[in-house]
Amino acid sequence: MLLISCPNCGSRDETEFHYGGQAHVAYPENPNELTDREWAEYLFYRDNTKGAFAERWLHSTGCRQWFNMLRDTVTYEIQAIYPMGSPRPDAVGKVTAETGTASTAADSTTTGSAAPSIAATSASPTSSTTAPEGATK
Ligand SMILES: [Zn+2]
Repeated sequence: MLLISCPNCGSRDETEFHYGGQAHVAYPENPNELTDREWAEYLFYRDNTKGAFAERWLHSTGCRQWFNMLRDTVTYEIQAIYPMGSPRPDAVGKVTAETGTASTAADSTTTGSAAPSIAATSASPTSSTTAPEGATK
C-alpha cells in the first residue's frame, strides 16, 4: 500500500487516489494531419519503463485535483510529486544520473515536501508548456 502525499491534502492512503496513466503525453499539434497509425500510437502506446516513471494521479476522494508523480516502477518509491504542466523534475539531472552524483534529487524524497527543489534550476528555456501556477481564476 502506498502512502501518497497529495500537494493539497498531505499524506493519504493509496485507496483515495486513481491512477491516470503516463504523464507528459503531448496532444498532437495538428491532429487532422496524423495517419491512423500515428493517432493510434498517441491514444494507446505508452512507455513501459523499468525504473523512474512519470505518471498522473487524481485525488478522487479528496480534493479531486490532478497532479504528477515520479515513481520507481520497481521499488514503488515515490521520488517526486509536482503540479500538472510542470516539467519532469529529474529531466535536468538525467544526463548525469548515471555517474553517481546524487546532488539533485536524493534528499527530497522522505521529507514530505511537495515542492521539487529542482524546479528552481532554469534548465529548459525551450519548454513549450509552462506551469499553470497562476491559473487559479
Ligand atoms: Zn488532495
